Amino acid sequence: MTSISEELAEQIRAIREDVVMKTLAVTLVAGAVLLLGNMVRNVYLGNSLSIVHPVLYLTLYAVFLLRRRIGAERIAWLIVILLYLAATVGLFVYGLAGNSAAVYMAFCFVSTTFFGVRGGGAAAALSVGSYALVGILHIAGLINLSLDLPTFLQNPYSWIAAVLTIGSMSWLVLSQVGSLNNRHLKLLAEQHHLARHDPLTGLMNRVALESILEHAIAEAAREDLSVAVFLLDLDRFKNINDSLGHSAGDDLLIQVAGRLRGCVRESDIVARLSGDEFVVVLPHLASPDVTAVAGKLAAALSAPYMIADRELRMTPSIGIGICPRDAGDVETLIKYADTAMYAAKANGGARFCYFSPEMNQEATDRLLIELRLREGMEQGLLTMHYQPKIDMTGRLTGLEALIRWEGEGGISMPPAQFIAIAEESGLIDEIGDWVIATVCRQLRTWLDDGIRPPRVAINLSTRQLRQHNLAMGVARRLIEAAVAPDLLEFEITETAAMENADTAERRLGELSAMGVTLSIDDFGTGYSSLLHLRSLPLDALKIDHTFVRDIASDANDLAIARGTIALAHSLGLRVVAEGVETLEQWQLLRQYGCDEVQGFLIARPAPAEALADILVAGKVAVPA
Ligand code: C2E
Ligand code: MG
Ligand code: MG
Repeated sequence: MTSISEELAEQIRAIREDVVMKTLAVTLVAGAVLLLGNMVRNVYLGNSLSIVHPVLYLTLYAVFLLRRRIGAERIAWLIVILLYLAATVGLFVYGLAGNSAAVYMAFCFVSTTFFGVRGGGAAAALSVGSYALVGILHIAGLINLSLDLPTFLQNPYSWIAAVLTIGSMSWLVLSQVGSLNNRHLKLLAEQHHLARHDPLTGLMNRVALESILEHAIAEAAREDLSVAVFLLDLDRFKNINDSLGHSAGDDLLIQVAGRLRGCVRESDIVARLSGDEFVVVLPHLASPDVTAVAGKLAAALSAPYMIADRELRMTPSIGIGICPRDAGDVETLIKYADTAMYAAKANGGARFCYFSPEMNQEATDRLLIELRLREGMEQGLLTMHYQPKIDMTGRLTGLEALIRWEGEGGISMPPAQFIAIAEESGLIDEIGDWVIATVCRQLRTWLDDGIRPPRVAINLSTRQLRQHNLAMGVARRLIEAAVAPDLLEFEITETAAMENADTAERRLGELSAMGVTLSIDDFGTGYSSLLHLRSLPLDALKIDHTFVRDIASDANDLAIARGTIALAHSLGLRVVAEGVETLEQWQLLRQYGCDEVQGFLIARPAPAEALADILVAGKVAVPA
């Protein structure tokens, strides 16, 4: 902000300098013509040569020569003073009303050019004042003036002088003032716009938003009204950039900006903070209930978009902060709206949330957890547990690697929870790599101990799927531990596979090409399209435990489980049921052709050492 306004000031100074120099040059030319004319007239009339004109002219010329040293601002003042002196001396000494009038006019014009309308006004007042003073002195008999208009009018020199002075000065002033103003204004407008607007969408940027919001808050406080700040973030926007390219992403942002503007009144504020973060401000609210507006914004952004000949769907997460209820200053208000937006995202996105003070606590808690998690990873507090998977005969078909975190001071948190936090903070990249390395090392240990381990499944999070070097990383860990890729399996949730559609397809293709097995986790909880699933190199599909839980009591869940089994088989996939806890569930699953099961009924997740017996036996007693 500062640098832009300084730059602007510098440019304006340069324009002024330029105008002053041109004015000085033109004044010199006009002055030279007048001087010559005057000298010719004096010689012609046989008068002694007047000294006033040459002195004035030489002074002006000296100023011209010294212009770099003096600086434009001072030159401007000098010209104005010289013109005034010339006109006044002319009036007093010669009494040539016409000449003086011409020079006074020039004086007024030049003053206007340099010092604006006020400068011109002051110059005019001075000129008229001088005339009035001379008039009064003349009437009082204190000075003697040769106020003979007829002589003036008959004198061609007076005409030439007047026309030249007025003409050149008018031209100068009109052109320079015009161009000065135009260039000034254009520059100002451009710079102002650039400094305050986002070039992509044309919406205000953060700088503009903050200053306008500050105004709005002050105004609302005076009138006892509320201000609502909506912070909108597009859910999974990164996928668009990743899969369709940045120009598609830009296109989407432009459309979003247009829809937001269309949703609110002219007097409301719409801004883009960064990336896919937008802000809408409603400045004059009688009531802090803006649910209707939030709904309208959400609906507008959720309607399908046409991007690069494709129909896309996008949903926003919206956080709402209200002034003065939540906060009374710009920074806190935006921060709170952001906190509320995160809460909306944490609840699955595609929704809006009002800020509440408890969220603040949650946000600090999350930060703390993130910090502890990082420490925990460095201090070796993360461990892996393994849960067996068996087929319907009891044969051990695989293990699922599940991360555990024994936090300090007995804080232990379920992985679903801390993985989500790690995912948000980006820590998942390191944790994910640690998991892969640990599992590979564990496989090596088993092999070294003469145990033939089954395939171990590792859960991959959404963010890991986006890593360009995922397959390379996996290969490195496998090589380090000297473990064959067919001992490794990756589980990707249905949502992760769908969210990244194209990227996921590429990553999974790379992994599959390496000889690693892939399966879809938590099937039934997302909205995957079969067509898409079919295009992925999958080996198995895991029915989510929420469906397994109630298959014995809920006919719908049973129907879903049956349908899923049939569907998976038709796609050539194995079916694994997770979360099997009861005999009834086991029997139903077996009856409907489920291939494998995993759950507390068979075995709980346990540290590697506790699994030795099962691994050696290679089977588990089938529930009777
Ligand atoms: P998931 O991949 O669906 O893992 C299965 C979860 O079900 C595990 O929870 C497991 O302990 C639990 N489970 C197994 N049998 C039963 C049962 O009979 N009944 C019930 N109620 N639950 C059972 P856990 O270990 O708490 O993990 C939760 C989720 O956290 C996992 O779901 C997975 O999405 C994620 N996760 C765990 N470890 C990792 C990891 O290393 N990396 C990543 N990215 N995610 C992981
Ligand atoms: Mg899993
Ligand atoms: Mg699962």
